[in-house]
Amino acid sequence: MGMTLDQRVQIPKHTRREFRERMQSGELKACIIPVAATEQHLEHLAMEHDWASCMHVSCEVAKRLDPHVVVAPVMSIGISEHHMRHIGTITAMPGSFLSMLHDGIRSMNHAGFDTILVLNGHGGNMAPADGIWGQFLQRFEINLQFKSYWEFLSADEAAPYLTTGRFPGHAQEFETATALALFPENVRQDAMEDQDDKEPLAATAENGQAMLDIIIENTASHLKAMIDGDDVIRIPDFHE
Ligand SMILES: [Zn+2]
Repeated sequence: MGMTLDQRVQIPKHTRREFRERMQSGELKACIIPVAATEQHLEHLAMEHDWASCMHVSCEVAKRLDPHVVVAPVMSIGISEHHMRHIGTITAMPGSFLSMLHDGIRSMNHAGFDTILVLNGHGGNMAPADGIWGQFLQRFEINLQFKSYWEFLSADEAAPYLTTGRFPGHAQEFETATALALFPENVRQDAMEDQDDKEPLAATAENGQAMLDIIIENTASHLKAMIDGDDVIRIPDFHE
């Protein structure tokens, strides 16, 4: 039995032989490492939202670029100290998070990838990653980029699909809309109506899907340009 497309885009669905043979054949050109969080999302949205949505976008991007892209396991614990007063949130210290991310990148580089996109789904991870990225580039010397998936949706592209205009926000219209499109069972309608914050009520599944379609399309274009050598990150000089 061969692998299905859903299996083929995820590294852990491969046997070691399948992965080795694909790598040796040269068909695998790039890897996506999804990073996100498990944290409170107001009263109405499941705590898995950031990592589940980021994993979804990553796999859809890999499918668009099949058979050249695979997705690593999602890093589902991110930097969420600012949400710890809502129990159930799980956080990593910035140093722990960056150490694990470094080790994941190292493992994928060891597998043979020199084009790696770290696709982020949680705002709290951005500043620490940004602060260390130059050092990661100096260490790995590969086309290694860190992007949050909502960077692939411009304000102009989002405008027709957002009533509130706020974006990406936290558990607000944007995230609630993407949840309604991807996993409606994660949205509690009664809690959404009861809570003080009414912005999520503007969300619709149709708008969520429309925004996801744009994000997936634009992310795939970006990764294709990375693979083709048209978008190569500059490695900072050691003396800067
Ligand atoms: Zn979120």
